Amino acid sequence: MIRLFDTASGEVRELTLRDAGQVSMYVCGPTVYDLPHLGHGRFTLVWDVARRWFTFQGLNVRFVSNITDIDDNIINRALRENTTEEGVAAHYEDQWWQAMAAIGVARPNDVPHATQYVEQMVELISDFLAKDIAYPISDGIYFDVSKVADYGLLAGQPLESLRAGARIETSDEKRSPLDFALWKNAKDNEPSWPAPFGAGRPGWHTECVVMSLGLLGEGFDLHCGGLDLKFPHHENERAQAVAAGRDFAQHWGHNGWVMVGDQKMSKSLGNFTSLTDLLEKTDQRAYRLLVLRSHYRSPIEVSPTTIADAEAALKRLDALARRFNLTERAGENFEVASDHQWSGATQELLEKVSARLDDDLDTPLAVSRLFEAVSAANALADENDPSAQALAEAVAVLFGAMGLALRGTADEVDEATLQLIKYRDQVRSEKNWAESDRLRDELAAMGWVVEDTPQGTVVRKP
Ligand SMILES: [Zn+2]
Repeated sequence: MIRLFDTASGEVRELTLRDAGQVSMYVCGPTVYDLPHLGHGRFTLVWDVARRWFTFQGLNVRFVSNITDIDDNIINRALRENTTEEGVAAHYEDQWWQAMAAIGVARPNDVPHATQYVEQMVELISDFLAKDIAYPISDGIYFDVSKVADYGLLAGQPLESLRAGARIETSDEKRSPLDFALWKNAKDNEPSWPAPFGAGRPGWHTECVVMSLGLLGEGFDLHCGGLDLKFPHHENERAQAVAAGRDFAQHWGHNGWVMVGDQKMSKSLGNFTSLTDLLEKTDQRAYRLLVLRSHYRSPIEVSPTTIADAEAALKRLDALARRFNLTERAGENFEVASDHQWSGATQELLEKVSARLDDDLDTPLAVSRLFEAVSAANALADENDPSAQALAEAVAVLFGAMGLALRGTADEVDEATLQLIKYRDQVRSEKNWAESDRLRDELAAMGWVVEDTPQGTVVRKP
């Protein structure tokens, strides 16, 4: 049984499944107008780990995540850069998938784009207008939140107290400051779509309702995203589904914030400006391990220090992989469990790790158990105990189940590279650091990641 915190009920409870053995999961994706930021990295990693773990536990996961390819930010960027909205969205979507590949986040089964679902959104809005759940004002069509009795469920506050805290705009024609735009009327030099209530473009909160129900069907299991989406985005998605009489997500998952310190501090510490930037400067697995070592509902700090800690821990894992000649066990391969035999100490490890991960995805304790097993495997090997190998393999399999690959086996190294490595080890033994650095750069230019180990220079593919 898998238990997970549910924002709607405010408790950790069983993840009940609509269809036995199947998980239907929707994660709100990015608006593609800039490079992915660190918060994007965290939510994609957290829900990627959940997806992989459910799969490891024998469940068949259908994972849907959207791309918002029309909104104010995209329009503004297109105007500023004298290009088209399609051009901006296509460029930054490409950057998005490059970052996702680098960080090891598996592709969703479906990637709906907002602009492909405008017709269905127009239908839904027409229905709301007909029932007076939506109303027009001068700049578009708005949703009347007072028509949904339990509005505020995800925010954890009743409508009245939300209303008391809402900012009231002086020229507001809305019935309530909490009412939100379903449709923005067409403006000059903005893309628009035809609709019976006037040409325009959809507001952000409607697309996920239409796309999640369209692809996963009513009463799908799990709707996820960062804590910043809980209110108003998810609240407003849910309100529309309720108003439309559609059974929506049965379970709501939200992951915690990313802390990067204040602007001044982040600059002076040489912080990472985007996920893309982080992935260029560090071991691409480091952010995943940092995320795994924190509970997904807690805030995490992403800084050069915390990333360096994660990199140091990765070195320990890679050393294990080298010592026991382990092969990579992650990537797109979700079949990792089926070919592994568990018994004795490895069975015990599997049970310990499963117990933690099945209980609200407690990755930090699961990772602690795995690092204890790393120490145990090394200690056994020091005593030439043959059971060490199986334990080390189990560690690699279980990290692989969370999407973290241990790098043990050397990549195929060509003769020219080999000569450079030998030469570099020689100049290092002569303490000729300038030449050693130059050779490192030369190897890097040839596409190698260079590591200094007690055994000398080790290279691997990034
Ligand atoms: Zn959404």
